Amino acid sequence: MKIIRSPTTMAVWSERLVREGVKIGFVPTMGALHEGHRALIREARLRCDALVSSIFVNPAQFGPQEDLAKYPRPILQDRALCRKEGVDVCFEPTVEAMYPSGFQTMVTLPAITRRWEGEVRPHHFSGVATVVTKLFGIVRPKMAIFGQKDFQQSALVRQLVKDLNLGVEIVVHPTVREEDGLAMSSRNVYLTQDERKRAVMLYKSLRAGAEAIGRGVTDGKAIGSAMAQVVKKEPAITIDYLAVCDPTTLEPLSTVRGKAVLLGAVRLGPVRLIDNILVVAKQARRKF
Ligand code: AMP
Repeated sequence: MKIIRSPTTMAVWSERLVREGVKIGFVPTMGALHEGHRALIREARLRCDALVSSIFVNPAQFGPQEDLAKYPRPILQDRALCRKEGVDVCFEPTVEAMYPSGFQTMVTLPAITRRWEGEVRPHHFSGVATVVTKLFGIVRPKMAIFGQKDFQQSALVRQLVKDLNLGVEIVVHPTVREEDGLAMSSRNVYLTQDERKRAVMLYKSLRAGAEAIGRGVTDGKAIGSAMAQVVKKEPAITIDYLAVCDPTTLEPLSTVRGKAVLLGAVRLGPVRLIDNILVVAKQARRKF
C-alpha cells in the first residue's frame, strides 16, 4: 500500500489510472477506523479496480467548541487496517496542503443543511461539502462509498454530485452496529463504561418509531412521541432532535406514506450521538 501525503502526487497517480480506464473507488474518512469504515472499504474493494482511502481530520467541518484537537488519530493502526483490506493508496494530506494560505472557495448547500445536524452545527456541512469536492477533484474516483450512519451527509453528497455534475457514483453502505445496536463511531471512545451502556437508548428509540410505523401509525407527531418516550427513560440523555423525514429532502413529514427516515441526535456526557433508520410504511390497500 502506498502512503501519499501530497495532493499533487495523489492527483498524478489518479490521472494515470483514469487515462488507462481503471475504475478508482474511494472511501473518505477522518481515521480512527472501526468496523464501520472497514465495511465501506470492503465494499469499495469488491466494486472497483483501484482503491483509495483518505485519512484527513478536516478542520473546516469542526466548530470552534468541538473536538478537533482531541479527535483520535491512531494513524499506524489505521494504516494497518487499510493495508489488510487491500487499499492501494492511503491518502493522508496535511491541513496546510488542503487549505494553503489564500484558500477561499467554500461549497454550501443551504436547503439540505438547514435542519438537523446543519442547525446544531453551523458551517459543519459546508466544511464537508468543500472537502469532499476537493478530494473528488484530487482522487478522481468513479465511485465513492459513504456510510448511512451520517445520513444527512450522504444526502448532501448525492445532491452535491448531482448539482455540480461531478460524475462520481455514490454508494451508501448500511450502518454497522455494536452487538447491542449502538452505531459504531470513532467518538464512542469518549464514552465512559456507564455512558456506553446507556448510549443504546438512541437506537432503541428509533426502533420504537419504526415499530410504530410498522403498526400502521402514519402521523409524524405520534411517531416522534413514540421515539421520545423511549429516550426520556434515560435521564442522562438530552435530545437534540428526533424526527421523521423525507429521505431525499430531509424535510419533516407530517404524514408517513412510503419511504421515510427516522433521524436522531442526543447528548450523553461529552458525546453527541447521531443515528437513523430508513423505513418503508406499508401503503393502505385500496379497496375496490
Ligand atoms: P468519519 O471517519 O467519521 O468521517 O466517517 C467516514 C465514513 O465512514 C463516512 O462515510 C461515515 O458515514 C462512515 N461511517 C462511520 N461510522 C459508520 C458506521 N457505524 N457504519 C457505516 N459507516 C460508517
